[in-house]
Amino acid sequence: MQIQILPPQVRDQIAAGEVVERPASVIKELIENSIDAGAKNIEIFIENGGKDLIRIKDDGHGMSPEDAEKSILRHATSKIKNIDDLFAIQSFGFRGEALAAISAISNFELISKISKNNFGTILKISAGENKTIEEISSNNGTDISIKNLFFPTPARLQYLKTNSTEYRQITKEIFGFALYNYEVSFKVFNNKKLSFDFPATKDPKVRTQKILKKSSDDICPVSLKTPSLKISGFISRPENCSQNRTSQFLFVNGRRIEDHRLAFAVREAFKQSAGIEHGYYPAFVLFLEIDPILVDVNVHPRKLEVKFSEPGDVFSIVKKSVSQSLEKASSIPQNNFQPQTRVGEFTKYTEPGLNSPSKKIQQTAGSFFSPTQLVSQKKSNKDFSERNFNRNLFDSDENFNTPETSNNIEDQELGELKLIGQVARKYILAENKSGLFIFDQHALHERQRFEMFWKKFENKKIPTQKLLVPQTIKMSETEVSILNENKKDFEELGFKINFPQDDEIKITEIPNLLENENLEKLFQNFVDYFESERISEHKIKKILRKLIEYKACRGAIMFGDKLETKEMQKILEDLKHTKFKWLCAHGRPNYIFHSFDELDHKFHR
Ligand code: ADP
Ligand code: MG
Repeated sequence: MQIQILPPQVRDQIAAGEVVERPASVIKELIENSIDAGAKNIEIFIENGGKDLIRIKDDGHGMSPEDAEKSILRHATSKIKNIDDLFAIQSFGFRGEALAAISAISNFELISKISKNNFGTILKISAGENKTIEEISSNNGTDISIKNLFFPTPARLQYLKTNSTEYRQITKEIFGFALYNYEVSFKVFNNKKLSFDFPATKDPKVRTQKILKKSSDDICPVSLKTPSLKISGFISRPENCSQNRTSQFLFVNGRRIEDHRLAFAVREAFKQSAGIEHGYYPAFVLFLEIDPILVDVNVHPRKLEVKFSEPGDVFSIVKKSVSQSLEKASSIPQNNFQPQTRVGEFTKYTEPGLNSPSKKIQQTAGSFFSPTQLVSQKKSNKDFSERNFNRNLFDSDENFNTPETSNNIEDQELGELKLIGQVARKYILAENKSGLFIFDQHALHERQRFEMFWKKFENKKIPTQKLLVPQTIKMSETEVSILNENKKDFEELGFKINFPQDDEIKITEIPNLLENENLEKLFQNFVDYFESERISEHKIKKILRKLIEYKACRGAIMFGDKLETKEMQKILEDLKHTKFKWLCAHGRPNYIFHSFDELDHKFHR
């Protein structure tokens, strides 16, 4: 084949792929431009996940007819003149590529007016061709509509996800801008309905609350300054963590970035200062201000990642700022706080005269999801265990199968186990010919129940039951659409769900397994689980596993329950048929073994 020079239109369409991956990338470029233009009011209109329409209207400085014409050319920018400018750039956009790219792959229309002119300009272009420019009467500012994104590149169109997934990505992008630019008013219309209204405010906390949907008490301020870095922003209280990352926002010099290491730094701080463990995600909105010389924002074509010249420093400063904020908020010395607050430890925690947090904790104590470990002594152990377990529902990314690996304890013959008794209402002591066993009564019983249920359900049709009274649950439109997208999976699991309204679901049939469970809370978990998008393969099996774990735990003997000899003997007896004796369903050990040899050795015998 002969070498050909590609025509400009094709070149632009190829280049467009670098800048524009999906509707959310268009949103990002256009809002950047509006903010760079000094807009105070931005209105965004989305139709069908942005596939049909993305429109952004601003009241910024606008463009003259000449600039409007130039704006859609490649490398057309008013923001930099030479390469040195790149390193000191303060504005958001600077590559002069966005409008060129977007107009090459859509039906593009731009209306813009500068205040000193009486008339505005309307420019239309379709897939980079048939450009028209005319005068039009319009308001000051710029109004850009993108219809049929990717229509000239059907292959790209195919990569797009469902409308609601694309819309979620779009909102994440908008939230990013709205969090930083709180003095700008944002209105978002989705399919012609107003779905977000963020009025301009002088207080970043007000905007943050609005976007994270939290009350003032639910978030704590973060603030730390070092010679090279300034951090400000907000984090959720530990008891407000959720199971997905949708409420995590990091900014470097006003630019939203995704940096897994820094997100991890925040989680580490939550883990060390508040005992929040794997699988729970604090909400955070953190603004890092750093000398532009020390970061390279130009490493990623879509500018989501940045490179720090001293990444280790940034990591530890972020962690420190969050830890300080948590400690201040809890006013509990860290040492007291930490050991009792591990996931899965069912130790009763004595609430140390907390100030404001205690009120909050009391309020959230009954919530299905609440990852709080600070629990009032008035609450029974059972409550606590359940709640603690709830933290684990849908949590880990572990393999959905029962673990098939072997370990030393397992390999060893259990032989005849002789019951010694119960200690502390928590542990069952038993001996065999070679040593002493200490079983965690809850963990072991839970494991046994898990295996029993799992055997029943694996590869079989799941028994279901019709609800005498169908249950209706109110949810946000996005939440309903997430469930609707996964409708088939729910049917496979034994649910029958109708979607009578945009903002409610109606459950008419459920798997037997879930009789008497709180469906509202359960479905909230589903939404979070699906939203986190960590599940794709073996989805049904994974969810089934989680449901069974849930069920296994709920019915199991609790830490703190006094046990009769007969009950303990039954558990030891069942151990013979328990396939994976050494781990509970969440991966904690079920028992500790001390051989008599080891004990002798310790006593210098
Ligand atoms: P960049 O933002 O990197 O300069 P773009 O392709 O996004 O490149 O925009 C090209 C130019 O068009 C900008 O430099 C700016 O001068 C102008 N422009 C784009 N959008 C707007 C807007 N909303 N208001 C005013 N000017 C705009
Ligand atoms: Mg731009």
